Amino acid sequence: MNEIQMLIGGQRQAASNGASFERRNPLDHSVATRAPAATVADAQAAVEAAAKAFPAWAAMGPGERRGLLMKASQSLAAKADAFIAAMATETGASAIWAGFNVHLAADMLLEAAALTTQIDGQVIPSNVPGNVAMAVRQPAGVVLGIAPWNAPVILGVRAISTPLACGNTVILKGSELCPATHGLIIEALQEAGLPPGVVNFVTNAPADAGAVVEAIVAHPALRRVNFTGSTKVGKLIAQTCAKYLKPAVLELGGKAPFVVLDDADIDAAVAAATFGAFANSGQICMSTERLIVDQAVADEFVAKLTARAQSLPLGDPRQGPVVLGSVVDMATVQRCNALIDDALAKGAKLLCGGKADNTLMPATLLDHVTPEMEIYREESFAPVKAIVRVNGVEEAVACANDNEFGLAAAVFGRDVSRAWNVAGRIESGICHVNGPTVHDEAQMPFGGVKSSGYGKFGGQAGIDSFTELRWITIQNQPRHYPF
Ligand code: NAD
Repeated sequence: MNEIQMLIGGQRQAASNGASFERRNPLDHSVATRAPAATVADAQAAVEAAAKAFPAWAAMGPGERRGLLMKASQSLAAKADAFIAAMATETGASAIWAGFNVHLAADMLLEAAALTTQIDGQVIPSNVPGNVAMAVRQPAGVVLGIAPWNAPVILGVRAISTPLACGNTVILKGSELCPATHGLIIEALQEAGLPPGVVNFVTNAPADAGAVVEAIVAHPALRRVNFTGSTKVGKLIAQTCAKYLKPAVLELGGKAPFVVLDDADIDAAVAAATFGAFANSGQICMSTERLIVDQAVADEFVAKLTARAQSLPLGDPRQGPVVLGSVVDMATVQRCNALIDDALAKGAKLLCGGKADNTLMPATLLDHVTPEMEIYREESFAPVKAIVRVNGVEEAVACANDNEFGLAAAVFGRDVSRAWNVAGRIESGICHVNGPTVHDEAQMPFGGVKSSGYGKFGGQAGIDSFTELRWITIQNQPRHYPF
């Protein structure tokens, strides 16, 4: 069992009232982790520690900050085995997924290190004679990052790495479902030697999430929030941020369409769809959720995809290598069983998999899905996928856009100009032509539209999100005034 502590102002800490909560393994319900259940006072102390550390961190030269972030990347990569074990225990994730998490998260820290010298500004011609006018980017202040459990290393690191690179100090609010995994990120940053208070870590019992988050957001020193998680909670966070006028980046749910046009390379499409639909058992915001396939190629595509889906190894990741591990909880299983019942009752055809009675869910494909079925619209966030057959490009685009979400998308077609035009018409923050919906790189502008949220992480777009753009002038000549 993991026993973890918070980190506030460089001090490892229990909750001030001694309270703790447990995370249990989703498969055998053994206690995976015991973590502090922060109080509102602990949350406020974290903001104060971050505020105290801010002036020195903001003033540190980019080379020094870069060096520390590069060291953090190395320490994080060196903990790969510990991350793999923690993720298997806390969330049931496969070693492939955990390893990929560590790899990309280490890269995000390197990219953040590189960004430290890319925070530039502008000299803007002024109409006032002798006036030098500049747009200057400065660190915003204390930043709160709230990360979920599903890609815990990537999203925990993403929540704080660009903010740190920009000279902000941060608080990571760990997920109740994987506090030890998020705690390992903090250990890596501490080992790298970041000064006390620059990175703080708060964990909370599930019932206290709202109060802990509000206490942090309400604090006058808190200047930016980023949240990755469900649209339901994202709306609550947006309301809290609005109440205190704190800007937020919100990375929320998805229902990624994967469009297969009539001229697609079917084998390439099947390979990308298999990966995008079933990596981490479909528990990725970019997971392929809707396979929108032209009737002309649907039978071939569906037959080949079904064969691939049936061949994916499923099991307890603690016992050996698998592609499909355990999903995060029984609520996921129950939600998906209901989606399957609803779809079958309304005429869908089950191609493989089906309902589960424990958290080891098989790869499940439902063909002939129509708009009347709940799975047509709702995020399954599990290895249960809808296939919708369409006639031609117009129907494919209409179907892709017939959803409240807009995070990732993909289009397959050999006529790349036609596929590119389809990509341009899909309402999503991200779209890949002839590539999978699941694709993340640290330097890319990552974010969604519609109910998938607003604001961007990644590269220059991340700098915009986590700095304050100021207008600063110098008057170099005597200035004329009207009176
Ligand atoms: P979730 O929204 O249930 O929980 C995320 C966080 O919200 C937790 O840390 C929790 O403490 C906090 N929270 C819960 N109630 C709160 C409240 N009332 N006030 C303030 N905070 C509260 O999300 P989850 O189930 O952990 O993650 C899965 C969801 O995240 C899926 O919908 C998925 O699509 C989405 N997601 C999005 C992205 C992206 O980049 N867009 C990436 C990964 C996951």
